[in-house]
Amino acid sequence: MKIKRKLGWKELPSGDFLEAGSSLNFETGDWRSKKPIWDEKKCKSCLFCWVYCPDSAIMVKDKKMIGIDYRYCKGCGICASECPFKAIEMKKEK
Ligand code: SF4
Ligand code: SF4
Repeated sequence: MKIKRKLGWKELPSGDFLEAGSSLNFETGDWRSKKPIWDEKKCKSCLFCWVYCPDSAIMVKDKKMIGIDYRYCKGCGICASECPFKAIEMKKEK
């Protein structure tokens, strides 16, 4: 049986690398199995959900919540858990 000599590190072919990912290029909302539904009438724009959302998916304008960016929301449910006014409810994604 012939034993192949292992290559030294200098003899190895150059490797390749993948470009680092960015959520700006990849819309991660389609990972979601549950969807946060925002009730604008109950919302007091305290922005707790904005602070806690790990995906920066809570949309704010002029210091008021204006909705949820479903392109990036992964449906973790943290916003619904943290909202003191029960203005966000998690529903099963269709
Ligand atoms: S935590 Fe609740 S009340 Fe506060 S901004 Fe978010 S949805 Fe509105
Ligand atoms: S469900 Fe999670 S990712 Fe989606 S808006 Fe709420 S905190 Fe952000």
